[in-house]
Amino acid sequence: MNNGRDCKHGQLARSCEICGLEAEVERLTECLKNANNNHEEFERKWYLAIDEQDELKDENAQLKAELAEAKSAFDRLTPHAEAIIAERYSLVLGLEAASCYIDVLGGDSKSYRIAIAAPGANRVQG
Ligand SMILES: [Zn+2]
Repeated sequence: MNNGRDCKHGQLARSCEICGLEAEVERLTECLKNANNNHEEFERKWYLAIDEQDELKDENAQLKAELAEAKSAFDRLTPHAEAIIAERYSLVLGLEAASCYIDVLGGDSKSYRIAIAAPGANRVQG
């Protein structure tokens, strides 16, 4: 029976339908195993991606809150900054007027002119 030519079903090994079907079952079982493995890997990555997405959403929400807070602080400070700029500009005008008056009186207005030309004063005028 087991002469190498016949299968365990007593057929010619190369033409036994049962052997062919068993081989097909084995092949399809292997395919199914691979598909299951791929599915598990995909599912694992899917959950990791969802976790990462959730983290990014949280981070995004936090950054939006920080941006809103910074914008709010900027909005609160802007009027003060504008008032300070206007005040400094007014001081520059006062210094210029004072230096002209000192010159008219024959005094030395050099220190006033240096103050007017100071970097802060230049920024005010810019
Ligand atoms: Zn067989």
